[in-house]
Amino acid sequence: MLSKTKTRWAFDQLYTLIPDAKGALVADSPFQLLIAVMLSAQATDVSVNKVTPKLFRDFPTPTSFANASLESIEADIHSIGLYHNKAKHIKTCCQQLIADFGGEVPQTHAELEQLAGVGRKTANVVLGDAFNVPSFAVDTHVTRIAKRLRISAQNASVTQIERDFQAKLPESDWVKAHHTLILFGRQYCTARNPKCQQCPLLTICVAGQQYLADRG
Ligand code: SF4
Repeated sequence: MLSKTKTRWAFDQLYTLIPDAKGALVADSPFQLLIAVMLSAQATDVSVNKVTPKLFRDFPTPTSFANASLESIEADIHSIGLYHNKAKHIKTCCQQLIADFGGEVPQTHAELEQLAGVGRKTANVVLGDAFNVPSFAVDTHVTRIAKRLRISAQNASVTQIERDFQAKLPESDWVKAHHTLILFGRQYCTARNPKCQQCPLLTICVAGQQYLADRG
C-alpha cells in the first residue's frame, strides 16, 4: 500500500499537473448544488449544466419542486439519464427539506443522507463545495485511481477508500484532492488507455508500469 508520505508526494505532483481543480456543476446556492449533484449521478456535468438554467427558472425553491407535478419536472430533465427516478427523488427531497429542515439544505452527513436520492457521495460533494466542510467524495474515477496507485486495497469498498484518503491527506486538502482526482481520471488516468507515459506518478505506480510493460 502507498504510504502517507508517498501519497502526499503524489498529490503534490497532481496539484502541479492540474492546478486549481474545482467542481464543474453550475449552481448559485447550496440548494441548487444539491439538485445539480443529484442530477449528475451517471450523467456528465456538461449535460447537467445544460438543463439546470431552465430547471431553476421553472423551480426556483424547494416549495416549487415540492408542489410541482412529476411530469413538469421530468419535462426539464428528460435529456438526463434516469430522469424518472431523479424527478421523484428531487420532489420527495424538497418535501423533506420543507418538512424537516425549514426549507434549508442541512449541513451534516447524517441529515443530508436522510434525504431522498442523497447518498454518501452526494452528501460529501454538497458539504465540501457548498459549505466548506472537509469531506472527500468517492466516485468511479477516485476508486480506479486509488486502486491503481495502491492508496487503497484492490477489494476496498467506497467507504474504505474514503477513509484511506482521509487518513493519508490533511483535512484541508480533502475537497481539492477529490476534484483534482476527478480531472486526473478524465485527462490522464482514464479507465481505458491511461496516459502513463505522460504521468508524473509512473515511478510509484505499479499498475502504470505493468500497463506499459504489457503494451511492450
Ligand atoms: Fe494512472 Fe498510469 Fe499514472 Fe498509474 S501511471 S496513476 S495508471 S496514468
